[in-house]
Amino acid sequence: MLSEKKLFLLDIDGTVCKGGQLISGTREFLRDIKESGGMFVFITNNATKSIADYIRMFQQFGIAVEYANFVTASYAAVRYLKQHHTGELVYVMGTRSFCRELKREGIQITDDWEDDGISVALVSYDNQLTYQKISDTCRVLMNPKVTYLATNPDFVCPVEFGCVPDCGSICEMLAHSVKRKPYFIGKPETAMVECALRQNHFAREETLIVGDRLYTDILCGYKAGVETALVLTGEATKEEALRFEVKPNYIVSSISELHKMWK
Ligand SMILES: [Mg+2]
Repeated sequence: MLSEKKLFLLDIDGTVCKGGQLISGTREFLRDIKESGGMFVFITNNATKSIADYIRMFQQFGIAVEYANFVTASYAAVRYLKQHHTGELVYVMGTRSFCRELKREGIQITDDWEDDGISVALVSYDNQLTYQKISDTCRVLMNPKVTYLATNPDFVCPVEFGCVPDCGSICEMLAHSVKRKPYFIGKPETAMVECALRQNHFAREETLIVGDRLYTDILCGYKAGVETALVLTGEATKEEALRFEVKPNYIVSSISELHKMWK
């Protein structure tokens, strides 16, 4: 039941924000979640921003948030690298902010394909992408011994004028050259959801995933055994949702309609 939900795992792009603008009703919803003793955690596949960047962004919207309110694909990538590739040298195709976050977490990284001992390549959404980086990444991936990881499988990222290519599209482009596809760490894999559940002590049944995309947000909820709400302010349409292999538990026009239904 929707009214029993206490832990809200919210997607950001297309769900609470669009092209740097807060979607209306978000502030009120987050306030009521807090006031009722619940918790909200943003789980986002977007790796262009670090958690510190997101905290600043939400503070500019006048919403008080802290580290505990975020689990990002870059955070999940750090956990994954620490667990499976301890001490290895990781070649990164990503933004400066993403590289900084990896370094701060003690991951050994490089953006120089000529460095010796690269054993992992990690690709992420990169809005500072250049042709040089693309060609360097191809060089690294030509070595079949290098493990190929990517932060998230999303094809596009919604912005104010429509959308721009996301990590999944970059990997599709690379696949034509290197004939390989990565293991994706973000949604629909369940690592971020499990992280949020571990850090907050609510039952799976008291948890709701809210997102705008079927093949990441909604599929992720299905895999994790957590109920889902699809908002129609981003990528997916109602028709697509009804045709999709996994049905969202709730379909709402926006975060503000979800708020009203939950109340
Ligand atoms: Mg989204």
